This record gives sequence, C-alpha cells and structure tokens, in this order.
Amino acid sequence: MKSISHLTILGSTGSIGTSTLDVVARHPERYRILALTAQCQDNILLEQCIRFAPRYAVLMDEGAAMRLEQRIAGAGLNVEVLCGAAALERVASLPEVDTVVAAIVGAAGLRPTLAAARAGKKILLANKEALVMAGRVFMDVVQKYGATLLPIDSEHNAIFQALPHNYSRDHTDSLAASGVSKILLTASGGPFLNTTLSALQHVTPEQACAHPNWTMGRKISVDSATMINKGLEVIEAHWLFNAPADAIQVVVHPQSIVHSLVQYVDGSVLAQLSNPDMRTPIAYALAYPERIEAGVEPLDMLKVATLDFVAPDLIRFPGLALAYQALRIGGTAPAVLNAANEVAVAAFLNNQISFLAIPRLIEDVLADLPIATVNTLEDVFSADTAARSVANYLMKSMICLS
Ligand code: NAD
Ligand code: MG
Repeated sequence: MKSISHLTILGSTGSIGTSTLDVVARHPERYRILALTAQCQDNILLEQCIRFAPRYAVLMDEGAAMRLEQRIAGAGLNVEVLCGAAALERVASLPEVDTVVAAIVGAAGLRPTLAAARAGKKILLANKEALVMAGRVFMDVVQKYGATLLPIDSEHNAIFQALPHNYSRDHTDSLAASGVSKILLTASGGPFLNTTLSALQHVTPEQACAHPNWTMGRKISVDSATMINKGLEVIEAHWLFNAPADAIQVVVHPQSIVHSLVQYVDGSVLAQLSNPDMRTPIAYALAYPERIEAGVEPLDMLKVATLDFVAPDLIRFPGLALAYQALRIGGTAPAVLNAANEVAVAAFLNNQISFLAIPRLIEDVLADLPIATVNTLEDVFSADTAARSVANYLMKSMICLS
C-alpha cells in the first residue's frame, strides 16, 4: 500500500492553494493535510478546516485568527489556530510534514519556504518571488539540507517534464552537459497582447486582472499583463535549471497550450502541452514521479487546431527586458526588481499609478540603488527594504506629477 503524504499548504486560500486542495480531495488515500495558512481570509480557511480537518490553521492577521479560533471551537473541530510569521515557519517545518506547497504571493513567502527547505522537505514551489529575490541563498539551503524542489509554475513544471529524467537540480549539472541548447519559456502575452502603447496608458486594474486564459490572484495577473511575470520566470528558470540568461528565450504563445519547451543539440524540441489549468502541474509535482488524475479536461488537439508563436514586444512590455537586465547584473538586482515591482503593482491595484508607470518605477529604482553582492539572507532583505523605500519615495513624486 502507498504511504500517505502529509502536507502543509502555505497560502491555502489563494488561487494555487485552492487548486491544490481540489487535487488533494480527489486522492484522500494519498494525501492528508496537516496545516493550512492564509493572510486574513478566515471565512475561507474555516470552510477548508471543516473539509480537510488539518491539525493547524495559521493566519497572519490577529483579528482574523481570533474569529477563526472562536468558530473552530463553536464547530467542535480539533484544529489549533496559530497566528503570525513564526507560526508559518513552524508549520512549514513540522517533523510530521513531508511536503510543503509554497503558494504565498510575494516576498512574504520567502522565510516560511526557506524554513521548509532547512527542514529538508519536498517543496512544491509556486512562490516564484522567493527564488527571484534570494536565488543563490535559496538554492544553497535546498542543497545543504537535502530538500527537494519541484516547480508548479506551469512553465517550469513543463521544462522539468521535458528535461532528461536524470537532470539534476542540485546545481551540479548544466544544461549544456545534458545536450540542451535552449529553454523556451512560453508567455500568453496577457490581456493586453494586442493593446497599443497609447491605450496601455489608460488601462484599469480590472482590465489588467481579466486574463484571457488563466484565473489567478490579482498580483500575478498584473504581472502577466506587464509581462514582468515572464521576467520573474526567466530568473526562476535560471535558478531552478542552472540555465544562463542567454539559454532562456521567451516566446509569446497566446493559446497557452504549450507550457514551455526544451531544445536539444540534435535539433529535437520537447514540449509539455495541456489545457491551461494549474491542477495539471500541481498534480504532477504532488505525485512525482507518478501521475495522478487532476480533474483537468483532456486536451483536444482538433479543437485547439492552431498554435501560434511570436516574439515579445519589449517596447510595450519593457518589464521583461528589465528582468533580463537584473539577472545579468546579478547580486541584489533581482531582489530590487522584485521589491520595486511589488510596490508598483500594489499602487496600480490601488489606482495610485498608471499601468505604464509600473516598469518605469522598477527601472528608476534599479538605476537609483547601488547593487551589492549577496552573501547572506540579510543582504537580500536589506536590498528588499531599501528598494521598497526608494520605490515609495519615487512613487510619491510620480503621483504629485500626474
Ligand atoms: P493569491 O493572491 O490568490 O493567494 C495568495 C495566498 O497567500 C493567499 O492564501 C493569501 O492569504 C496568502 N498571503 C498573501 N499575503 C500574505 C502574507 N503577507 N503573509 C502570509 N500569507 C499571505 O495568489 P496566487 O495567484 O495563488 O499566487 C500564489 C503564488 O503562486 C504567487 O507567487 C504566484 O506568482 C504563483 N503562481 C500562481 C499561479 C496561478 O495560476 N495563480 C501560477 C503560477 C505561479
Ligand atoms: Mg507561470
């Protein structure tokens, strides 16, 4: 009989978190939930506690945690409610937990994901920002403590599937030694693929969050619309697959059926295809190296009929070029890019700055801050703090000017 895998889901109330629980619910004989966490969504977390009976539920917000505790007691459930950042790290590293799904959005996911790595867990990584910020430090911790890192970002999951099965992710293998000449990351192009530069000036947060192929959280939806998401994914691919920037090419593929491709020196190109549904990469990472049913509609190639591929437009989507630039500069540059982007996206969603101001702000912050080498996690966090403060300062002058 198969042994049961015990899971912590960091960010269980979000888009990735709920998709993960959907897959888990299809395989009760394989998975048991030990901990669920969220920022402040106590209503959704209560429903998840009723359905999945975890041992722990963690909320970052104190008021939300108090409400949840009362309702858990009222419902007679045996769930311990915890609150705060230390509790996130605790449930990410419980000895009974085998697998941690890292599905918190943004820099807030870095510490608990690293805690899981230090505890040698199998980590299913959605939280790309953690890897973008802390790349080298993160990968070193994964290697040092024998953690396993499996990508659930759809592109990286596709690459992982298309790489040689013995390709080592512990940084000792290189793509070239495995006969790989290039990684092709596909991008849908987002909701503004065909929007003119002048029209982009006036797009709203609602338009930016209306992705044509995927339903996702608001932050990654805006990142997809600016194509900064693809830039973050280039950096993510660099660390996950030990791939130099020059070996990673972005191709726009509006149908979102081919999730990425690996090109080999003999001319072969291997790709992974599926309907755009995150339950496919989540199920693959959950069951790896086996395959399990994910509830995803089978792909009908006759219905798809056409697959298009075009070059990205770096004039309308300069964020992608900024990410390549940050990757090539190295050191704290990716952490600075990520922090500036998080500040800019929050301001855009709050109607404080325009859509086109997002990459402008990132560019200005990258130009203003001296870039340092990264030796420790503290170097990463101080770059993150400095970038947020410069971004907020520059944004104020931007708002005054507009
Ligand atoms: P989301 O906004 O839907 O959910 C985020 C989750 O994190 C929620 O449970 C929320 O409560 C929690 N959270 C938010 N801020 C927090 C904080 N400060 N501290 C603790 N918890 C916090 O986001 P999402 O779309 O599910 O994305 C999650 C991550 O997965 C992101 O890094 C995103 O880039 C990545 N990702 C998402 C998709 C997708 O299809 N949604 C695809 C690929 C990668
Ligand atoms: Mg992706």
